[in-house]
Amino acid sequence: MTTDPITVNAIINGEKVQAEKSFPRENPTHPDEVVGYAPINTKEEAVRAIDAAYTAFSEWKWSEVDDRIERMQRAIQKIKDAIPELSHLLSREHGKALYDSEGEFAVSLMWVEYACSIVKDVIKPQVKEHDNGRTIITLDPIGVVSAITPWNYPISLSTIKIAPALLTGNTMVLKPSPFAPLAVSKVVEMIADEFPPGVLNLVHGEADVGVELTSNPKVAKIAFTGGTKTAKSIMKAASDTIKKMTLELGGNDAAIVLDDFDVNDERAMRRMVISNFLTAGQICMIAKRVYVHRSIYDAFVEKYIEAANKWIRVGDPFNPDVTVGPVNNKNQVKYVQSLVDDAKSKGAKVIKLGKILNPELMDNGYFLQPTLVLGADYQDPIVVEEQFGPTVPILPFDDEEQVIELHNESIYGLTSSVWGEEEHAIKVARRIEAGTTMINTAAVQGLDVRFPFGGVKQSGVGREYGEEGLKSYVETHVINVPKNLELPYIPE
Ligand code: NAD
Repeated sequence: MTTDPITVNAIINGEKVQAEKSFPRENPTHPDEVVGYAPINTKEEAVRAIDAAYTAFSEWKWSEVDDRIERMQRAIQKIKDAIPELSHLLSREHGKALYDSEGEFAVSLMWVEYACSIVKDVIKPQVKEHDNGRTIITLDPIGVVSAITPWNYPISLSTIKIAPALLTGNTMVLKPSPFAPLAVSKVVEMIADEFPPGVLNLVHGEADVGVELTSNPKVAKIAFTGGTKTAKSIMKAASDTIKKMTLELGGNDAAIVLDDFDVNDERAMRRMVISNFLTAGQICMIAKRVYVHRSIYDAFVEKYIEAANKWIRVGDPFNPDVTVGPVNNKNQVKYVQSLVDDAKSKGAKVIKLGKILNPELMDNGYFLQPTLVLGADYQDPIVVEEQFGPTVPILPFDDEEQVIELHNESIYGLTSSVWGEEEHAIKVARRIEAGTTMINTAAVQGLDVRFPFGGVKQSGVGREYGEEGLKSYVETHVINVPKNLELPYIPE
């Protein structure tokens, strides 16, 4: 695999556009190494991309769904063939371990394939004959979609939007995060090449490009994944033209461990550790605070540390024994460290977890050794804020009412998990305010692309994945042919 810096372009109306300025993306494992350059697109280029998508929509919206599926399947095949090279690039620019990058591609393509398999049924027009004539219901594309994505899962959080949008007849302008812009650009290019010019466009850049994508009157829908704070600006920017929106935002997912959880179940304990530390904890749906029933708390912590020390192996993403790579960027390192330091200064105990397999990288790279925080207060920032990094607080609770309240008082409600005897856990799960609650697992291990995913409260608006994920890219159009053309209560 080449390690020479690559250059990716914007894609506007089918053309690869080189910008005047570009920015380097460094390798979080070796920050002195530039993995590649991405363009700094201007607001004007964003407008050109939106115009191209707007013009393309006038024909694309009438395209046959079979044609769209065929195009998408060709793109899937190209991406599949390139997975070894693309995963390598993703690990270098992102920092996630190679198995984790490969896993991201697998989940991404699983969704795109599933979307291809169901789209025809999902958007099939319905004709209803009834006592008052006939009603035809069609699900029509919305128009130009602006997709804005974060750095933590750049491939899956882009394909989660591209597939349903294009398969249902919309056009798109996508803007990835500057913290992982390279592999996703390659993927977008492979897909865009299979579609008519203007159907899928790509621009890079910061908030100014983002603001154009979310306020331009030609944009009909915004599909955003990222932080809750950014989403608030986006809602404001979009309000003048009342755009449709899917927002997948931050979370502070809790894992609730009931008194009948078996702490000696080593596989379950391993799943718990992975639920906290996969992708160095930088997953929206990872368990970010763990509440354990006081009757098993001490035994749980002991077994947790054992399991964590076994599974967590920190180092070079390309070392096949490594499970946890560096954090993606310097700001995130500082932020996570500040939360841990704050908890420590208030008297919490911080326990380092796992083994360091490549000690020579730790000082220079954006590494943080995973930590467990014990003795934090229920209201400490490390507990109530989304840390989005390799640290987790474990806290005891006394009864189920208390833990349900602790869970539900959060402003967030993305995912959650309940661990214990299955029926008991389901009973507790029913009282949890979240978009998804997983039983005896969490994070991507509990994800199923066939079912809707999204958050309640400030964790989001709308759903991705599943049928709902496709339906969020269509408008319902009702054509009524009433038999009774006159209404009796309207006077002559
Ligand atoms: P972020 O909100 O900082 O950035 C997300 C994207 O928005 C980036 O492309 C960024 O350039 C762009 N952006 C920034 N300012 C903008 C503006 N004013 N207008 C339009 N676009 C703008 O998020 P991040 O740091 O990249 O990602 C981490 C966050 O994403 C975490 O909070 C995490 O929980 C969340 N996330 C949520 C999900 C989910 O499915 N709910 C999935 C992954 C990540």
